[in-house]
Amino acid sequence: MTPGDREQKVKALIDKLCLTRELNRSEWTELIRERTPAAAEYLFELAQDVRIRCYGRDIYIRGLIEFTNYCRNDCYYCGIRKSNTDVLRYRLTKEDILACCEEGYRLGFRTFVLQGGEDGWFTDERLCDIIAAIRAQFPDCALTLSVGERSYDSYKRLYDAGADRYLLRHETYEAGHYGRLHPPALSASHRQKCLWDLKKIGYQVGTGFMVGSPYQTPENLADDMLFLTRLNPQMVGIGPFIPHHATPFSHMPGGTAELTVYMLGLVRLLLPRVLLPATTALGTITEDGRERGVLAGANVVMPNLSPIQVRKKYLLYDNKLGTGDEAAEGLNKLKSRMEKIGYHIVVSRGDSQNI
Ligand code: SAH
Repeated sequence: MTPGDREQKVKALIDKLCLTRELNRSEWTELIRERTPAAAEYLFELAQDVRIRCYGRDIYIRGLIEFTNYCRNDCYYCGIRKSNTDVLRYRLTKEDILACCEEGYRLGFRTFVLQGGEDGWFTDERLCDIIAAIRAQFPDCALTLSVGERSYDSYKRLYDAGADRYLLRHETYEAGHYGRLHPPALSASHRQKCLWDLKKIGYQVGTGFMVGSPYQTPENLADDMLFLTRLNPQMVGIGPFIPHHATPFSHMPGGTAELTVYMLGLVRLLLPRVLLPATTALGTITEDGRERGVLAGANVVMPNLSPIQVRKKYLLYDNKLGTGDEAAEGLNKLKSRMEKIGYHIVVSRGDSQNI
């Protein structure tokens, strides 16, 4: 096949994805492996048409509150893994968290995302108390949790206390690859079971994966897309892997913005109504990462609402953005950046229409 033939084949697969929303594993692999700049441009045009049809030019914002960096896990890629003894560990109190929400509400946020490491201090009882307090004080806001793997009963209690949504990236679908990124105590199958549990309970579920994580192949990404097809989540978080200096993967190459935005475009075609963030990690590796994400089909940004003094302590990867346009205080700057490319940030819960 000539390069021209290959490009035509990739464009034909993009058309097929757009029309049928279903590809098999070898089609996904080819679509990812054989991509070209021209095919990517074609994908982004279609992806933007789809997102404009579903969501117009609105961008939803979520206020991210990183409320603990204690973690019992030891994921090989993550800067706050248990074995990293250089990290200054912190936990926000209920009052701290409520103060973040108040500030966020004032700025126009109507979704709060509580994210943290897997911190045993936050028992169901303590988390339910915090959730109920936020629910009572901000009845018009959505509350998202992102606190890792817990039991069905625990997820149910948190849901009954008032949490509406849950973010748990599957990280990578295939068990062998998952095993190369995580210690033996963690498994792909348990991670996926958690996602099915969350869905069954009634959460709006977000999953996702890192792009360019160590040892990742196009086949791994194909499996990720097939998993998304089956799970049909309301949100998909995709960002590049970025090495952190104090982890076993410190010398591994990071993921690229090019492949990350390509994957965003593919997800927009696969799940037209999905909520798709242009992630902090994408904004970290390239100055115009947010804009490129939106132009590839993303429709959510998640500025940081954590207290300034803890932001440097929640370093999942090196050089993580935490101030400036990335931060909630920089919302005006972010607004004007979005306006420049023809999009506007709205004050709304921004529920998925994928229900
Ligand atoms: N403990 C929670 C939150 C994890 S942090 C949980 O288990 O879900 C949120 C996400 O950051 C992770 O799911 C992972 O995909 C991403 N992340 C962690 N380390 C990273 C790195 N070095 N580069 C890019 N993304 C990373």
